[in-house]
Amino acid sequence: MSGRVLVLGGTGEARRLAAALVAAGIDVLSSLAGRVADPVLPEGDVRVGGFGGADGLADWLATHRPRAVVDATHPFAARITASAAAAAARHGTPLLRLQRPGWTPGPGDRWTYVGSLTDAAAAVRDAGTVFLTTGRQGVGAFAALPGRVLVRAVDPPDEPLPAGAVLLLARGPFTVDEEAALMREHGVDVVVTKDSGGSMTEAKLVAARQLGLPVVLVRRPPLPDGVEVVTTVEEALHWITR
Ligand code: NAP
Repeated sequence: MSGRVLVLGGTGEARRLAAALVAAGIDVLSSLAGRVADPVLPEGDVRVGGFGGADGLADWLATHRPRAVVDATHPFAARITASAAAAAARHGTPLLRLQRPGWTPGPGDRWTYVGSLTDAAAAVRDAGTVFLTTGRQGVGAFAALPGRVLVRAVDPPDEPLPAGAVLLLARGPFTVDEEAALMREHGVDVVVTKDSGGSMTEAKLVAARQLGLPVVLVRRPPLPDGVEVVTTVEEALHWITR
């Protein structure tokens, strides 16, 4: 067994955990899917690309024998999270899920939770101008929307866009003022987002609250059974070093 920790990444938490491990003198290898053309790289060693499903990751664990795996992927990255749970269980590799809490509505929020992107598309079909901030993956679920849709993503989506789409390529974080100005400029009537949680992408929710706009949030996929979960980088660091 190596002393190395494998961090499944692609999130701000994963980058902060990698930096904390480097600072603590712990050998870390961060793994990225390779989806974003120009990713912000974590400190320490980095590998890029899929493992080949649960079997591929299990083979990787058998070969490289990390002392632990921290799955710090995005709350909506359900496939890699399922692979990590299955592969780590097969090898008895300690596995921790680091996942930030979801958002909670405050006074004045007009939030509706839905179970999927398809349900979100149905919920906003006749809602006027839609601001879609669910990321490039799965955007095809909104392809049949009849109205104006402001689609914001880091990289151009591969999936079909609605006929009335306005594509905005931008990488956050954005301030509340920037988000509010954008919503005003485009006459946004409703915001659609995944319940990603965290402060990095929260500004759009605050801006929607200020403007009195409704928000449709897609609920998170469930976590695999039996995996220990923490919500902060500090807890993850404690779990690794204890
Ligand atoms: P996903 O659906 O769970 O994963 C699809 C496939 O991509 C996985 O089966 C795996 O391929 C590979 N993969 C995903 N994360 C990986 C990682 N960290 N290292 C190596 N391979 C990885 O995930 P996704 O929703 O496409 O997200 C891809 C990446 O973007 C994740 O790392 C996630 O943290 C990040 N991200 C996702 C979102 C989102 O909304 N989904 C938002 C922000 C960032 P194999 O099966 O071949 O191993």
